[in-house]
Amino acid sequence: MIDTIHYDSCPLCQGSELAPFASATDHLVSGKQFTIIQCKACGFLFTQDAPSNDSIEQYYDSEKYLPHNTGHGFNSFIYRSVRSVMFNWKHALIQHYHNTRGTLIDVGAGNGHFMAHMQRSGWDVVGCEQSELARTEAWNRWELHLDGDVMETEYRTGCADVITAWHAIEHIHDLHGLWDRFNNWLKSDGILLVAVPNCFSADAQHYGYTWAAWDVPRHLWHFSINTIHELSQQHGFRLIDIKSLPLDACYIAMLSDQNKFKAIINGLRFMIKGFSNKQNASSLIYIFSKQQIRP
Ligand SMILES: [Zn+2]
Repeated sequence: MIDTIHYDSCPLCQGSELAPFASATDHLVSGKQFTIIQCKACGFLFTQDAPSNDSIEQYYDSEKYLPHNTGHGFNSFIYRSVRSVMFNWKHALIQHYHNTRGTLIDVGAGNGHFMAHMQRSGWDVVGCEQSELARTEAWNRWELHLDGDVMETEYRTGCADVITAWHAIEHIHDLHGLWDRFNNWLKSDGILLVAVPNCFSADAQHYGYTWAAWDVPRHLWHFSINTIHELSQQHGFRLIDIKSLPLDACYIAMLSDQNKFKAIINGLRFMIKGFSNKQNASSLIYIFSKQQIRP
């Protein structure tokens, strides 16, 4: 029996006018269709009737699910190559906003690869990851102990200089509780970096309901610049910068397009569009500081 969650009002602004936005199929595991709903008031998009936190595990049961994937196919090769370049770029981005080393919490740490990269650079790292398989791999590969469910993990108040969540928050059911945790764990001068797909990107508009980054029902929330800004403000954060992740356009095109030649051409096209205008970028990194409380 699968428990599902049905929203009668917007999870972001509590607005009651909701309308179907798109119908997307889970191509990876179940083949089931899910409806993506848009709030008329704030524009937030979310997956309606998604499996609850206790029921969703079976939807991750696929060797194709690349964040935990160690396969040797062409898509996996592309994924690993892009990831390696991106680790260095993300590290440089963090150093730009926080030029002294400290403690980093990685939420949705996968197999701990990024944590290991940062640890080698002198950072103290902790992280959490829902998948037991990924946690075991983190231990076997790097002797990194990862905590499990982020909503059951307790870190000390104000312990983190930097919190990162790379393509993680769209998977976590407790939309608001997670951001309360971010706020509790982050130091007053710390920074939070969140990467999520951009639901109004050029590639999302091109592929429509076949856009791979809908990734229903695993992606519960589908963020735009406006809606993540609103969410962050509700939880005491200030948006200080947005960076595009244009390489994600190539990866998403490879997954979205059956014709791999067309996928490469389209991926490059969307990558260039993302470089020229962040609004078009397939995925975005949002950088937040904490709102300062006036004395
Ligand atoms: Zn709303």
